[in-house]
Amino acid sequence: MRFDHDVIVVGAGNGGLTAASRASGAGLKTVLLEKHNLPGGFAASFVRGRFEFEASLHELCDAGTEDEPRIIRRLFSELGADIKLYNEKYLFRTIVTGEDGYDVTLEAGVDGFKKSLLAVCPGEEKSIDKLYALLDETLNALEYNKKKNGKPNKLVAVTKYGNFLKSASHSIEDVLTYLGFSEKARRIIETYWLYIGVPVEEANSLHYLEMLRGYINGGAGIPYHKSYELSLALADTVYKNGGEIRYNTEVKEFIYDNGRVTGVRTDNDEYYAKEVISNVIPHNVLNMSGKNTREKDRKLCGARKLGMSFVCIFLGLDCDRKTIGFDDYTVFIAKNASSKRQYEDDMGIYVVNCLNSAVPDATPAGTCSVVITVPVFRPDIFDNVTAENYKKFKSDFAKKYIEDFEAVTGIGVLSHVEEISVSTPATNARYFGSPEGTAYGYEMSGWDNLMSRTLNKENELDIPGLSFCGGHGPSGPGFGVTYLSGVDAADAVIKRIKEGAQ
Ligand SMILES: Cc1cc2nc3c(=O)[nH]c(=O)nc-3n(C[C@H](O)[C@H](O)[C@H](O)COP(=O)(O)OP(=O)(O)OC[C@H]3O[C@@H](n4cnc5c(N)ncnc54)[C@H](O)[C@@H]3O)c2cc1C
Repeated sequence: MRFDHDVIVVGAGNGGLTAASRASGAGLKTVLLEKHNLPGGFAASFVRGRFEFEASLHELCDAGTEDEPRIIRRLFSELGADIKLYNEKYLFRTIVTGEDGYDVTLEAGVDGFKKSLLAVCPGEEKSIDKLYALLDETLNALEYNKKKNGKPNKLVAVTKYGNFLKSASHSIEDVLTYLGFSEKARRIIETYWLYIGVPVEEANSLHYLEMLRGYINGGAGIPYHKSYELSLALADTVYKNGGEIRYNTEVKEFIYDNGRVTGVRTDNDEYYAKEVISNVIPHNVLNMSGKNTREKDRKLCGARKLGMSFVCIFLGLDCDRKTIGFDDYTVFIAKNASSKRQYEDDMGIYVVNCLNSAVPDATPAGTCSVVITVPVFRPDIFDNVTAENYKKFKSDFAKKYIEDFEAVTGIGVLSHVEEISVSTPATNARYFGSPEGTAYGYEMSGWDNLMSRTLNKENELDIPGLSFCGGHGPSGPGFGVTYLSGVDAADAVIKRIKEGAQ
């Protein structure tokens, strides 16, 4: 059958949901097509026994509190999505076990962060103040740039935002060194590098500082009912706006007419629209577009490096967290303080979360859940994994990390395991169809960093009738940025459709 709409959104991940919410909210006839039977993409949960496990979200950056809502809470209320978020008071505990190791817990909040960092790195007050000033200047510079639609007055930029301009294209390592931090303080502040997936010598400072500011000022937001609650709330807004969502509807092909994308094809139907927004990674869209793809788009996607993926070990324990003495919400564990070493070494770094530390009744009374998330930077660790030994590989992998966690923290989990589930990049590849199971789109490093992506935004993948949103976009992966990417894509589409109608 043939269906006609103003906007088709392909994929109901974070970006697709906010894009459909915004477009339908603007009165456009919108349909959201999702291959699975539920919304959210990575923002989902699954059940094993009496435990519902969060599939991805550890913490939501820049959410703020109910009294002082920040970007993400404001975005949800703007879209009409009703959500309840808990705010974690501590940023993280970071344990480095090797030489010059440390065990440090940092608090959220401007005062809390400073106090807790000074407690372990006394004498760094001036550097922290300089960092705060740079965070403020960066925020103001970005707001000014947005107000000027990306065409700022050069004199204003140089005179008012000189430090921002000087720092924005440098690595976070360079900028923190320039601000005068000691190596120990730098390493502690740099712990979040894992959320970008690129070692600090390469991670763009603008990207990192934006994230750091979000966590310091807003704390970590954690939904009471896991990220799936956020996905459902957004899907509800699409319905309330009169939009349509079709689950179990996999797009197999993008339809072109004279170089313009005019619709999509599923196994049984064709959908046509003035504009198509894809939440699906460009790699896959190009594969589905066959001979219609342009060489420049193929070259660009081919040159980009796929982002990291994860192995996640989900544990449902038969005791509450106090019984085992798990007091923190997020614990980073590394052998070496250097992010480069953490990136390169086996068991270089992993992160462990106990959801009950943030949301006490996240699991049935008398139980708790612990999730060990291991980033995978090198797909070659799976070279010898076959269909026959996949189960054993997962089991050995989980054992190795659980034992390490127990040895480092003294928290005994193994004897309390009631449910265990292990996901790998193969799980992601099978479920999401993402190339190599990446959960992070394209790696933001080298020539392909936040700055260059943002500056080239208008000229990249500028396929008429087709726009993109999601973790593969200019601002990269993460909940907050993918929600925002959907709104940005929809706003541009709304503008074009309204202009076209005049
Ligand atoms: C283990 C893990 C932990 C994470 N922790 C955090 C965290 O703590 N904080 C944070 O900010 N971020 C975190 N992230 C990253 C975050 O989850 C992702 O960046 C974000 O969810 C990606 O959203 P997206 O918009 O790119 O859509 P995706 O989630 O990639 O969704 C794409 C959607 O498109 C659908 N689709 C694909 N192909 C088709 C097709 N052909 N037809 C129809 N539908 C299709 C898929 O089914 C899916 O629903 C984590 C990720 C993982 C994996």
